[in-house]
Amino acid sequence: MPASQYFTDDHALFRQTVRRFIETEVVPHTETWETERRIPKAIFQRMGGLGYLGLPFPERYGGSGADFWYSVVFLEELARCGMGGFTTAVSVHVYMATNHLFRVGSEALRQKYLVPAVAGEAVAALGISEPDAGSDVAALRCTARREGDFYVVDGTKTFISNGTYGDFITLAVKTNAGAGGSGASTPGLSLLLVELNAPGISRTKLNKMGWHSSDTAEIRLDGVRVPVENRIGAEGAGFYYLMESLQLERLVAAILAVAGAQLALDWTLQYLHERSAFNKPLAKFQAIRHTLADVATEIAVAREFVYSTCWKFERGHNAVKECSMAKLFAAELQKRTVDTCLQYFGGYGYMEEYPICRAYRDARVGTIAGGTSEIMREIIAKMVVDGVAYESIRN
Ligand SMILES: Cc1cc2nc3c(=O)[nH]c(=O)nc-3n(C[C@H](O)[C@H](O)[C@H](O)COP(=O)(O)OP(=O)(O)OC[C@H]3O[C@@H](n4cnc5c(N)ncnc54)[C@H](O)[C@@H]3O)c2cc1C
Repeated sequence: MPASQYFTDDHALFRQTVRRFIETEVVPHTETWETERRIPKAIFQRMGGLGYLGLPFPERYGGSGADFWYSVVFLEELARCGMGGFTTAVSVHVYMATNHLFRVGSEALRQKYLVPAVAGEAVAALGISEPDAGSDVAALRCTARREGDFYVVDGTKTFISNGTYGDFITLAVKTNAGAGGSGASTPGLSLLLVELNAPGISRTKLNKMGWHSSDTAEIRLDGVRVPVENRIGAEGAGFYYLMESLQLERLVAAILAVAGAQLALDWTLQYLHERSAFNKPLAKFQAIRHTLADVATEIAVAREFVYSTCWKFERGHNAVKECSMAKLFAAELQKRTVDTCLQYFGGYGYMEEYPICRAYRDARVGTIAGGTSEIMREIIAKMVVDGVAYESIRN
Protein backbone atom coordinates (compact mmCIF):
# COMPACT_ATOMS: atom_id res chain seq x y z
CA MET A 1 0.00 0.00 0.00
CA PRO A 2 1.37 3.50 -0.78
CA ALA A 3 2.60 5.39 2.28
CA SER A 4 -0.07 8.11 1.89
CA GLN A 5 -2.66 9.50 -0.48
CA TYR A 6 0.00 11.82 -1.90
CA PHE A 7 2.93 9.51 -2.59
CA THR A 8 3.17 6.42 -4.80
CA ASP A 9 5.61 3.54 -4.51
CA ASP A 10 7.77 5.27 -7.14
CA HIS A 11 7.97 8.36 -4.95
CA ALA A 12 9.01 6.11 -2.05
CA LEU A 13 11.78 4.56 -4.15
CA PHE A 14 12.93 8.00 -5.23
CA ARG A 15 13.02 9.03 -1.56
CA GLN A 16 15.35 6.14 -0.73
CA THR A 17 17.68 7.11 -3.58
CA VAL A 18 17.87 10.76 -2.59
CA ARG A 19 18.33 9.84 1.07
CA ARG A 20 21.27 7.61 0.20
CA PHE A 21 22.79 10.36 -1.93
CA ILE A 22 22.46 12.95 0.85
CA GLU A 23 23.90 10.58 3.45
CA THR A 24 26.87 9.50 1.38
CA GLU A 25 27.74 12.50 -0.79
CA VAL A 26 26.59 15.53 1.20
CA VAL A 27 26.59 14.87 4.96
CA PRO A 28 30.27 13.75 5.10
CA HIS A 29 31.29 17.21 3.78
CA THR A 30 29.31 19.20 6.33
CA GLU A 31 32.28 20.30 8.41
CA THR A 32 34.33 21.39 5.37
CA TRP A 33 31.59 23.28 3.57
CA GLU A 34 30.37 24.99 6.72
CA THR A 35 33.89 26.03 7.67
CA GLU A 36 34.85 27.18 4.18
CA ARG A 37 31.47 28.88 3.86
CA ARG A 38 30.94 27.67 0.35
CA ILE A 39 29.72 24.69 -1.61
CA PRO A 40 31.88 23.31 -4.41
CA LYS A 41 30.48 23.60 -7.93
CA ALA A 42 31.16 19.90 -8.35
CA ILE A 43 28.22 18.99 -6.10
CA PHE A 44 25.86 21.01 -8.30
CA GLN A 45 27.24 19.16 -11.33
CA ARG A 46 26.80 15.84 -9.55
CA MET A 47 23.21 16.66 -8.62
CA GLY A 48 22.57 17.86 -12.16
CA GLY A 49 23.92 14.57 -13.47
CA LEU A 50 21.57 12.66 -11.19
CA GLY A 51 18.61 14.67 -12.45
CA TYR A 52 17.86 16.37 -9.10
CA LEU A 53 18.15 19.92 -10.43
CA GLY A 54 15.72 19.32 -13.28
CA LEU A 55 12.75 17.75 -11.49
CA PRO A 56 10.27 20.56 -12.27
CA PHE A 57 11.49 21.19 -15.83
CA PRO A 58 10.61 19.39 -19.08
CA GLU A 59 12.95 17.00 -20.85
CA ARG A 60 13.76 19.52 -23.60
CA TYR A 61 15.73 21.49 -21.00
CA GLY A 62 17.38 18.40 -19.57
CA GLY A 63 14.78 17.96 -16.83
CA SER A 64 12.45 15.10 -16.05
CA GLY A 65 9.11 16.93 -15.90
CA ALA A 66 8.32 14.94 -12.76
CA ASP A 67 5.10 15.64 -10.85
CA PHE A 68 5.32 18.05 -7.92
CA TRP A 69 5.44 15.24 -5.34
CA TYR A 70 8.92 14.30 -6.55
CA SER A 71 9.98 17.82 -5.69
CA VAL A 72 8.34 17.48 -2.27
CA VAL A 73 10.29 14.25 -1.66
CA PHE A 74 13.51 15.81 -2.94
CA LEU A 75 13.15 18.88 -0.71
CA GLU A 76 12.31 16.82 2.37
CA GLU A 77 15.36 14.64 1.87
CA LEU A 78 17.53 17.62 1.01
CA ALA A 79 16.64 19.18 4.37
CA ARG A 80 17.79 15.99 6.10
CA CYS A 81 21.39 16.93 5.30
CA GLY A 82 21.08 19.10 8.43
CA MET A 83 22.83 22.00 6.73
CA GLY A 84 20.45 24.90 6.15
CA GLY A 85 23.05 26.57 3.92
CA PHE A 86 23.32 23.69 1.48
CA THR A 87 19.56 23.22 1.46
CA THR A 88 19.08 26.90 0.67
CA ALA A 89 21.70 27.05 -2.08
CA VAL A 90 20.11 24.14 -3.92
CA SER A 91 16.47 25.08 -3.38
CA VAL A 92 17.06 28.70 -4.44
CA HIS A 93 18.79 27.45 -7.59
CA VAL A 94 16.03 25.02 -8.61
CA TYR A 95 12.81 26.52 -7.28
CA MET A 96 13.35 30.28 -7.06
CA ALA A 97 16.07 31.62 -9.35
CA THR A 98 15.32 29.59 -12.48
CA ASN A 99 11.55 29.52 -12.05
CA HIS A 100 10.92 32.81 -13.87
CA LEU A 101 13.27 31.84 -16.66
CA PHE A 102 11.26 28.69 -17.23
CA ARG A 103 7.83 30.25 -16.87
CA VAL A 104 8.19 33.44 -18.91
CA GLY A 105 11.70 33.50 -20.38
CA SER A 106 12.23 33.29 -24.15
CA GLU A 107 13.20 29.97 -25.68
CA ALA A 108 16.66 31.34 -26.49
CA LEU A 109 17.20 32.38 -22.85
CA ARG A 110 16.03 29.02 -21.58
CA GLN A 111 18.42 27.18 -23.87
CA LYS A 112 21.30 29.43 -22.91
CA TYR A 113 20.76 29.53 -19.13
CA LEU A 114 18.16 27.01 -17.96
CA VAL A 115 19.82 24.04 -19.67
CA PRO A 116 23.21 24.56 -17.94
CA ALA A 117 21.42 25.30 -14.66
CA VAL A 118 19.56 21.98 -14.85
CA ALA A 119 22.87 20.23 -15.61
CA GLY A 120 24.48 21.92 -12.61
CA GLU A 121 27.02 23.63 -14.85
CA ALA A 122 25.77 27.10 -13.93
CA VAL A 123 24.51 28.21 -10.52
CA ALA A 124 21.62 30.67 -10.31
CA ALA A 125 20.67 33.41 -7.86
CA LEU A 126 17.54 35.51 -7.41
CA GLY A 127 18.02 39.23 -6.79
CA ILE A 128 15.05 41.02 -5.30
CA SER A 129 16.09 42.44 -1.91
CA GLU A 130 17.98 45.71 -1.65
CA PRO A 131 19.56 47.53 1.28
CA ASP A 132 16.52 49.84 1.54
CA ALA A 133 13.75 47.47 0.41
CA GLY A 134 13.05 43.89 1.38
CA SER A 135 9.45 43.24 2.40
CA ASP A 136 8.26 46.21 0.36
CA VAL A 137 9.09 44.93 -3.13
CA ALA A 138 7.35 47.86 -4.80
CA ALA A 139 9.95 50.17 -3.27
CA LEU A 140 12.91 48.61 -5.12
CA ARG A 141 15.30 51.19 -6.55
CA CYS A 142 17.73 49.29 -8.75
CA THR A 143 17.15 50.83 -12.19
CA ALA A 144 17.55 49.64 -15.79
CA ARG A 145 17.73 52.43 -18.35
CA ARG A 146 17.20 51.51 -21.99
CA GLU A 147 20.07 52.44 -24.36
CA GLY A 148 19.49 50.96 -27.82
CA ASP A 149 19.68 47.18 -27.61
CA PHE A 150 20.85 47.24 -23.99
CA TYR A 151 19.62 48.04 -20.51
CA VAL A 152 22.09 49.87 -18.32
CA VAL A 153 21.63 48.70 -14.74
CA ASP A 154 22.57 50.66 -11.62
CA GLY A 155 21.85 49.76 -8.03
CA THR A 156 22.59 47.39 -5.17
CA LYS A 157 21.08 44.05 -4.19
CA THR A 158 21.68 42.50 -0.81
CA PHE A 159 21.26 39.19 1.05
CA ILE A 160 21.51 37.32 -2.26
CA SER A 161 21.91 33.56 -1.84
CA ASN A 162 24.40 32.05 -4.36
CA GLY A 163 25.33 35.67 -5.10
CA THR A 164 29.07 35.34 -4.46
CA TYR A 165 29.92 32.20 -6.42
CA GLY A 166 26.83 31.96 -8.66
CA ASP A 167 26.99 32.38 -12.43
CA PHE A 168 23.85 34.32 -13.23
CA ILE A 169 21.07 36.15 -11.46
CA THR A 170 17.41 36.80 -12.14
CA LEU A 171 17.37 40.46 -11.24
CA ALA A 172 14.36 42.60 -10.34
CA VAL A 173 14.91 46.11 -11.73
CA LYS A 174 12.92 49.25 -12.21
CA THR A 175 12.52 49.85 -15.95
CA ASN A 176 10.05 52.65 -15.45
CA ALA A 177 11.71 55.01 -13.00
CA GLY A 178 8.58 57.16 -12.82
CA ALA A 179 6.22 54.33 -11.77
CA GLY A 180 4.72 54.15 -8.25
CA GLY A 181 7.02 53.47 -5.29
CA SER A 182 6.41 51.88 -1.92
CA GLY A 183 3.15 49.93 -1.76
CA ALA A 184 2.20 50.63 -5.40
CA SER A 185 0.55 47.81 -7.36
CA THR A 186 2.30 48.73 -10.64
CA PRO A 187 5.81 49.73 -9.63
CA GLY A 188 7.35 49.47 -13.13
CA LEU A 189 9.51 46.44 -12.41
CA SER A 190 11.01 44.02 -14.93
CA LEU A 191 13.17 40.93 -14.61
CA LEU A 192 16.56 40.72 -16.29
CA LEU A 193 18.91 37.80 -16.56
CA VAL A 194 22.36 39.10 -15.70
CA GLU A 195 25.66 37.21 -15.82
CA LEU A 196 27.38 37.71 -12.50
CA ASN A 197 30.84 38.19 -14.00
CA ALA A 198 29.65 41.07 -16.23
CA PRO A 199 31.75 44.28 -16.18
CA GLY A 200 30.42 46.72 -13.58
CA ILE A 201 29.39 44.05 -11.04
CA SER A 202 31.12 43.82 -7.68
CA ARG A 203 30.18 41.23 -5.08
CA THR A 204 30.82 41.23 -1.36
CA LYS A 205 30.32 38.07 0.64
CA LEU A 206 28.28 38.65 3.78
CA ASN A 207 29.01 37.15 7.19
CA LYS A 208 25.98 35.40 8.62
CA MET A 209 24.77 33.94 11.91
CA GLY A 210 23.91 30.62 10.26
CA TRP A 211 23.41 28.95 6.86
CA HIS A 212 27.21 29.02 6.75
CA SER A 213 27.71 26.75 3.76
CA SER A 214 25.59 28.96 1.52
CA ASP A 215 27.18 32.11 0.20
CA THR A 216 25.18 35.29 0.61
CA ALA A 217 26.22 38.45 -1.19
CA GLU A 218 25.74 42.13 -1.54
CA ILE A 219 25.92 42.85 -5.26
CA ARG A 220 26.69 46.30 -6.65
CA LEU A 221 25.77 47.03 -10.24
CA ASP A 222 27.45 50.02 -11.75
CA GLY A 223 26.46 50.79 -15.34
CA VAL A 224 26.09 47.08 -16.15
CA ARG A 225 25.08 46.58 -19.79
CA VAL A 226 22.51 43.83 -20.24
CA PRO A 227 21.24 42.88 -23.73
CA VAL A 228 17.53 43.56 -24.17
CA GLU A 229 17.03 39.92 -25.17
CA ASN A 230 18.01 39.02 -21.58
CA ARG A 231 14.77 40.44 -20.28
CA ILE A 232 12.66 37.67 -18.75
CA GLY A 233 9.06 38.17 -19.88
CA ALA A 234 7.41 41.48 -20.68
CA GLU A 235 8.75 44.87 -19.71
CA GLY A 236 6.92 46.25 -16.67
CA ALA A 237 5.43 42.86 -15.70
CA GLY A 238 8.13 41.98 -13.17
CA PHE A 239 6.07 42.76 -10.07
CA TYR A 240 3.32 40.46 -11.28
CA TYR A 241 5.82 37.65 -12.02
CA LEU A 242 7.39 38.03 -8.59
CA MET A 243 4.05 37.95 -6.80
CA GLU A 244 2.94 34.86 -8.74
CA SER A 245 6.11 32.92 -7.94
CA LEU A 246 6.04 33.77 -4.24
CA GLN A 247 3.57 30.96 -3.58
CA LEU A 248 6.03 28.33 -4.77
CA GLU A 249 8.82 29.94 -2.75
CA ARG A 250 6.69 29.92 0.39
CA LEU A 251 5.62 26.36 -0.16
CA VAL A 252 9.22 25.26 -0.66
CA ALA A 253 10.21 27.10 2.53
CA ALA A 254 7.37 25.38 4.41
CA ILE A 255 8.33 21.90 3.15
CA LEU A 256 11.95 22.48 4.18
CA ALA A 257 10.97 23.87 7.59
CA VAL A 258 8.77 20.90 8.50
CA ALA A 259 11.48 18.47 7.36
CA GLY A 260 14.07 20.43 9.35
CA ALA A 261 11.91 20.30 12.48
CA GLN A 262 11.45 16.55 12.04
CA LEU A 263 15.20 16.05 11.72
CA ALA A 264 15.82 17.98 14.95
CA LEU A 265 13.22 15.84 16.70
CA ASP A 266 14.80 12.62 15.33
CA TRP A 267 18.25 13.62 16.64
CA THR A 268 16.75 14.52 20.00
CA LEU A 269 14.82 11.27 20.41
CA GLN A 270 17.99 9.28 19.74
CA TYR A 271 19.96 11.37 22.22
CA LEU A 272 17.32 11.10 24.94
CA HIS A 273 17.36 7.32 24.72
CA GLU A 274 21.15 7.23 25.01
CA ARG A 275 21.69 9.85 27.73
CA SER A 276 20.83 9.06 31.34
CA ALA A 277 20.34 11.12 34.49
CA PHE A 278 19.18 10.00 37.92
CA ASN A 279 19.68 6.37 36.84
CA LYS A 280 17.37 6.36 33.88
CA PRO A 281 17.37 7.48 30.26
CA LEU A 282 16.18 11.07 29.77
CA ALA A 283 13.50 9.66 27.44
CA LYS A 284 11.77 8.25 30.54
CA PHE A 285 11.11 11.59 32.26
CA GLN A 286 7.47 12.56 31.91
CA ALA A 287 8.10 16.30 31.63
CA ILE A 288 10.32 15.66 28.61
CA ARG A 289 8.05 13.01 27.10
CA HIS A 290 5.00 15.28 27.15
CA THR A 291 6.88 18.11 25.50
CA LEU A 292 8.15 15.75 22.82
CA ALA A 293 4.61 14.48 22.29
CA ASP A 294 3.51 18.07 21.66
CA VAL A 295 6.41 18.68 19.29
CA ALA A 296 5.71 15.48 17.33
CA THR A 297 2.01 16.38 17.12
CA GLU A 298 2.72 19.89 15.86
CA ILE A 299 5.08 18.57 13.20
CA ALA A 300 2.58 15.95 12.04
CA VAL A 301 -0.23 18.53 11.82
CA ALA A 302 2.00 21.02 9.99
CA ARG A 303 3.12 18.36 7.53
CA GLU A 304 -0.47 17.43 6.67
CA PHE A 305 -1.39 21.07 6.09
CA VAL A 306 1.68 21.59 3.91
CA TYR A 307 0.81 18.45 1.91
CA SER A 308 -2.77 19.58 1.40
CA THR A 309 -1.45 22.96 0.18
CA CYS A 310 0.93 21.14 -2.19
CA TRP A 311 -2.07 19.21 -3.48
CA LYS A 312 -3.90 22.45 -4.32
CA PHE A 313 -0.78 23.98 -5.79
CA GLU A 314 -0.14 20.95 -7.96
CA ARG A 315 -3.65 21.33 -9.39
CA GLY A 316 -2.89 24.84 -10.58
CA HIS A 317 -4.28 26.86 -7.67
CA ASN A 318 -2.05 29.61 -6.44
CA ALA A 319 -3.42 29.04 -2.91
CA VAL A 320 -2.11 32.38 -1.65
CA LYS A 321 -3.68 32.07 1.79
CA GLU A 322 -2.62 28.45 2.33
CA CYS A 323 0.96 29.01 1.09
CA SER A 324 1.30 32.01 3.42
CA MET A 325 -0.17 30.05 6.33
CA ALA A 326 2.10 27.09 5.60
CA LYS A 327 5.22 29.28 5.48
CA LEU A 328 4.22 31.18 8.63
CA PHE A 329 3.35 28.11 10.67
CA ALA A 330 6.20 25.88 9.51
CA ALA A 331 8.95 28.48 9.93
CA GLU A 332 7.74 29.42 13.43
CA LEU A 333 7.39 25.72 14.28
CA GLN A 334 10.94 24.95 13.19
CA LYS A 335 12.26 27.85 15.28
CA ARG A 336 10.38 26.63 18.39
CA THR A 337 11.30 23.01 17.78
CA VAL A 338 15.05 23.49 17.52
CA ASP A 339 14.96 25.60 20.67
CA THR A 340 13.11 22.90 22.60
CA CYS A 341 15.33 20.15 21.19
CA LEU A 342 18.56 21.98 21.95
CA GLN A 343 17.42 22.35 25.55
CA TYR A 344 17.25 18.55 25.93
CA PHE A 345 20.82 18.14 24.73
CA GLY A 346 21.85 20.16 27.80
CA GLY A 347 25.34 21.66 27.50
CA TYR A 348 26.16 19.46 24.53
CA GLY A 349 23.49 21.24 22.53
CA TYR A 350 25.58 24.39 22.77
CA MET A 351 28.64 22.66 21.33
CA GLU A 352 29.50 22.99 17.65
CA GLU A 353 30.15 19.28 17.23
CA TYR A 354 26.46 18.55 17.81
CA PRO A 355 24.31 19.20 14.74
CA ILE A 356 21.45 20.56 16.85
CA CYS A 357 23.69 23.57 17.53
CA ARG A 358 23.86 24.33 13.78
CA ALA A 359 20.14 23.60 13.37
CA TYR A 360 19.37 26.20 16.04
CA ARG A 361 21.42 28.86 14.21
CA ASP A 362 20.08 27.89 10.81
CA ALA A 363 16.41 27.86 11.78
CA ARG A 364 16.46 31.44 13.03
CA VAL A 365 16.37 32.95 9.56
CA GLY A 366 13.35 30.88 8.53
CA THR A 367 10.91 33.47 9.84
CA ILE A 368 12.76 36.23 7.94
CA ALA A 369 14.00 35.02 4.53
CA GLY A 370 11.52 34.43 1.74
CA GLY A 371 8.98 36.73 3.39
CA THR A 372 8.89 37.46 7.11
CA SER A 373 6.30 36.08 9.51
CA GLU A 374 4.85 39.59 9.85
CA ILE A 375 4.35 39.82 6.08
CA MET A 376 2.73 36.36 6.05
CA ARG A 377 0.35 37.55 8.79
CA GLU A 378 -0.41 40.70 6.79
CA ILE A 379 -1.39 38.65 3.74
CA ILE A 380 -3.45 36.20 5.77
CA ALA A 381 -5.15 39.04 7.66
CA LYS A 382 -6.08 40.81 4.43
CA MET A 383 -7.71 37.63 3.18
CA VAL A 384 -9.30 36.48 6.44
CA VAL A 385 -10.18 39.79 8.08
CA ASP A 386 -10.75 42.08 5.08
CA GLY A 387 -12.09 39.41 2.73
CA VAL A 388 -9.58 40.22 -0.02
CA ALA A 389 -9.40 37.42 -2.63
CA TYR A 390 -5.92 36.86 -4.07
CA GLU A 391 -6.75 33.38 -5.26
CA SER A 392 -5.81 32.84 -8.88
CA ILE A 393 -5.18 30.01 -11.29
CA ARG A 394 -1.59 29.69 -12.46
CA ASN A 395 -0.95 29.62 -16.16
C1 LIG B 1 20.32 34.50 4.78
C2 LIG B 1 19.39 35.26 3.89
C3 LIG B 1 19.27 34.86 2.56
C4 LIG B 1 18.44 35.60 1.70
N1 LIG B 1 18.38 35.26 0.37
C5 LIG B 1 17.77 36.10 -0.49
C6 LIG B 1 17.86 35.91 -1.91
O1 LIG B 1 18.46 34.93 -2.38
N2 LIG B 1 17.29 36.83 -2.74
C7 LIG B 1 16.61 37.91 -2.26
O2 LIG B 1 16.12 38.71 -3.06
N3 LIG B 1 16.49 38.13 -0.91
C8 LIG B 1 17.06 37.25 -0.04
N4 LIG B 1 16.96 37.48 1.32
C9 LIG B 1 16.25 38.65 1.79
C10 LIG B 1 14.97 38.36 2.54
O3 LIG B 1 13.96 37.91 1.65
C11 LIG B 1 14.58 39.64 3.29
O4 LIG B 1 15.51 39.77 4.34
C12 LIG B 1 13.17 39.63 3.81
O5 LIG B 1 12.25 39.68 2.76
C13 LIG B 1 12.90 40.81 4.75
O6 LIG B 1 13.31 42.01 4.17
P1 LIG B 1 14.28 43.01 5.00
O7 LIG B 1 15.41 42.21 5.51
O8 LIG B 1 14.59 44.17 4.14
O9 LIG B 1 13.43 43.45 6.25
P2 LIG B 1 12.39 44.69 6.29
O10 LIG B 1 11.47 44.61 5.14
O11 LIG B 1 13.15 45.94 6.49
O12 LIG B 1 11.59 44.35 7.62
C14 LIG B 1 12.14 44.57 8.92
C15 LIG B 1 11.11 44.15 9.96
O13 LIG B 1 9.89 44.89 9.78
C16 LIG B 1 8.82 44.01 9.59
N5 LIG B 1 7.85 44.57 8.66
C17 LIG B 1 8.07 45.06 7.42
N6 LIG B 1 6.90 45.45 6.85
C18 LIG B 1 5.94 45.19 7.77
C19 LIG B 1 4.52 45.34 7.78
N7 LIG B 1 3.87 45.81 6.73
N8 LIG B 1 3.85 44.98 8.91
C20 LIG B 1 4.50 44.46 9.97
N9 LIG B 1 5.84 44.28 10.00
C21 LIG B 1 6.54 44.63 8.92
C22 LIG B 1 9.44 42.75 9.03
O14 LIG B 1 8.60 41.62 9.22
C23 LIG B 1 10.73 42.67 9.81
O15 LIG B 1 10.48 42.11 11.06
C24 LIG B 1 17.72 36.71 2.20
C25 LIG B 1 17.83 37.06 3.54
C26 LIG B 1 18.66 36.36 4.38
C27 LIG B 1 18.78 36.81 5.82
